[in-house]
Amino acid sequence: MLGQKSLFEKAKEIIKLSDNIVFFGGAGVSTASGVPDFRSENGIYSQKRGGRSPEYYLSHDYYLDDPKGFSELIREMYGWSAVKPNEAHYALAKLEKEGKLKAVVTQNIDGLHQKAGSKAVYEIHGNLEDYYCGNCHVNAPKEDFLNADGVCRCKHCGGVVRPDVVLYGEGLNMDTYYKAIDAIQNADVFIVGGSSLVVYPAAGLLNYYHGKKLILINREETLADYKANYSIYGDISEILPALIY
Ligand code: ZN
Repeated sequence: MLGQKSLFEKAKEIIKLSDNIVFFGGAGVSTASGVPDFRSENGIYSQKRGGRSPEYYLSHDYYLDDPKGFSELIREMYGWSAVKPNEAHYALAKLEKEGKLKAVVTQNIDGLHQKAGSKAVYEIHGNLEDYYCGNCHVNAPKEDFLNADGVCRCKHCGGVVRPDVVLYGEGLNMDTYYKAIDAIQNADVFIVGGSSLVVYPAAGLLNYYHGKKLILINREETLADYKANYSIYGDISEILPALIY
């Protein structure tokens, strides 16, 4: 069993030698920038809204049950994403620019990878930049949604405008998901960070990687650690730049 120090050096070496790296990141990549984890233990905002599970407030049901509350929550979340990318985002953008990183696959909806300069980003849960009518599916300007008081109504049919995010109870955007799978299947090095890897679809994505260079970066041990070739513990915004630079 290798110690943390030599594991780190080995991981650094394989990143240096590869030109086909794929990164998959969970909430931990964003929380390092100060974006709140909506599922965090204290569940601040679920208490404020009536104490149901955090998942309920980001569900298709809540969108239907209380379009006004849902719209207000989305505007609040959009405000959260007005933070800056952190060193993990920038390190990945640099790797892509150098032609070494083929794709970033993310569960986060805050667009921070793009803000840091990444181009090949597969947002499997969508993002808060694009909006459309939930009834007639026509796109709506982001500004209309953000500036609306309460519910933003579709100009064509009066339907409720919503962000292009995947809510609980909805299917993934399969086009994006298949592209992510394709990148992972063909990756030489697969780096996974900031995800506990226990929930779908994160847990499933791991199974598409068939190589022997899986690097896991998390604050603490996860149930998926046994699958990793290199498990590294710490803050992703510190570990990732240290591995890459
Ligand atoms: Zn409409």
